[in-house]
Amino acid sequence: MKIVGVTGTKNTGKTTLVEKIVEGLSGEGYHVATLKHSHKSFDFPGRDTDRHRKAGAEIVAGSGRETFILVDREMDFDEIIAAIDILDSVDFIVVEGFESMEYANISTSTPNEFTVKVVDPFKLEDVDELIAIIKKRSYGLLQGLDCGKCGFESCREFAAAKVRGDADEVDCRSQPDRALLKINGKPVPLNPFVQNFVSKAVLGMVDALDTENLKIEKVDLIIKCQRNR
Ligand code: SF4
Repeated sequence: MKIVGVTGTKNTGKTTLVEKIVEGLSGEGYHVATLKHSHKSFDFPGRDTDRHRKAGAEIVAGSGRETFILVDREMDFDEIIAAIDILDSVDFIVVEGFESMEYANISTSTPNEFTVKVVDPFKLEDVDELIAIIKKRSYGLLQGLDCGKCGFESCREFAAAKVRGDADEVDCRSQPDRALLKINGKPVPLNPFVQNFVSKAVLGMVDALDTENLKIEKVDLIIKCQRNR
């Protein structure tokens, strides 16, 4: 899953550009999700789910022909991307409006260090060329491990090279050899001994379960901590 942002100042056509990118990627058969940042609330005034929320529910989900989950707090960028990744397997996430994210972006106004191209969405003719650039220069969720296994000393160096078109593909999720620890969604480096210890302990526990018909390739273990109230 790769991430590409659409950044730019107000009323410069960001949503128009998101539409063109989504159409271009979907047209090539890719599965695409979008993420929009807003300073306003996303709510449904007067609907049943709004009443659930006003009664005090912190998470409200709606299920029908479509499904939505409304979380009553601001989630950080990596947390949302990880949640989308868990919900469905998509090839690209097109993000509108997270100006400070450290992922490849197409800008409709002033570029930043992660901008791969500046375009005027209303005059964009060659969408195919833009899609080709996005496919080559965007990258997936960085684990922040600075493990160097991609050939760069840090994730930030890798990101800068990738945006310039000077780095190959890397799947950071495959970088930890045995186990990956995240606290509040942020990766925490583990040395090989601890990775080995954790993976053996968890796999030993899983082996003891009745999972005979299951071909185990990866195990996710999420530990929820009691909130301090
Ligand atoms: S392989 Fe991934 S996690 Fe490791 S330094 Fe490169 S970008 Fe960062």
